[in-house]
Amino acid sequence: MIPGAAEYGVDLALPERAIRRALSITPADVEPVEELTVAKNVFVPLTTACRYTCTYCTYFDPPGEASLLSPEEVREICRRGADAGCTEALFTFGDDPDDRYEEINRQLSAWGHDSIHSYLREACEIALDTGLLPHSNPGDQSHEQMGLVADVNASMGVMLETTADVAAHAGPRKKTPGQRLATIRTAGDFAMPFTTGILVGIGETRADRAESLLAIRELHERYGHIQEVIVQPVVENDRWRGGSPDVETIRDAVAMARYVLPESVSVQAPPNLVSLETLLDCGIDDLGGVSPVTDDHINPEYRWPALRELERLADEAGVPLRERLPVYDRFVPEELGGTASDDRWLSDRVERAIRAEGEAGERYRRVLAGEGVLTP
Ligand code: SF4
Repeated sequence: MIPGAAEYGVDLALPERAIRRALSITPADVEPVEELTVAKNVFVPLTTACRYTCTYCTYFDPPGEASLLSPEEVREICRRGADAGCTEALFTFGDDPDDRYEEINRQLSAWGHDSIHSYLREACEIALDTGLLPHSNPGDQSHEQMGLVADVNASMGVMLETTADVAAHAGPRKKTPGQRLATIRTAGDFAMPFTTGILVGIGETRADRAESLLAIRELHERYGHIQEVIVQPVVENDRWRGGSPDVETIRDAVAMARYVLPESVSVQAPPNLVSLETLLDCGIDDLGGVSPVTDDHINPEYRWPALRELERLADEAGVPLRERLPVYDRFVPEELGGTASDDRWLSDRVERAIRAEGEAGERYRRVLAGEGVLTP
């Protein structure tokens, strides 16, 4: 039984046979992809407060040290992103700041908000007004929390990481796989194009990775809302000295993801954590969001490769690299330039932003038409 699944009412059937089949896959069994995609984004680390304390994570700050960006700071980052031709504001979080974060909660209240989700809504509005489409990753979310922000996001995400009970999540406050799966299911209820993924090397086994990928697949089969699955290696940092998985392990995990997931779900590996050349033949078809403006605030010691460098590597491998929006084309209605046959995936607010006259709307539509300019 997946830890926390019963508590959160997540009922998945993961047949042994499917796990055995996933475990039999190697990179040699997977076809190389014909096209790679990437989004141009800015990281907006809305708050570094987090109620959890995962042992591999340098993102969260303890109470008294955690930051909370002001509306003006959010606007300034988004403005720089829009000026640089980006399309995505990636809002990163810890998970709900709990009572220990007195200063953060006091500040939110001074700005007229009773929760981080209420403030996220304001931040997403700022991004939309400035000319970027929001993609928020606010950690675990209840139905009520997601309902507060669903219509101002083009897509959202949370890493499942693993369905296993691993020591890296241990401690007095720990997130559970059941809660994460419940968040992914909630996104399905909202018809929210959704990004999730597995974190490789945090103490899970290969069979755990197969189970995690099959759990994601099952939720996708119910709702059709998973747009991409990230295969991310854990990396050494100030808090994690447990080592990183080797290239063969990552290749194996990518190939397994490609096999387990339907073709319509992209498989992504972050190009600042694992070199693109090593993965091109085993199933990745997306490089995630790469920022020409901001650092990767989740892994600040690992710099983005320049977009020009990614273009060069893709070129050498004979694979075109195409810009995409934070919401994949297959969730955007055909009349807007996407490939979705219906309009249930985008809120009116996001659709209006894509249709809008002016620079931002034109940029979104250019990207949908396959005419995005990665490196002006
Ligand atoms: S990985 Fe996410 S949930 Fe865990 S401590 Fe870091 S920010 Fe919080």
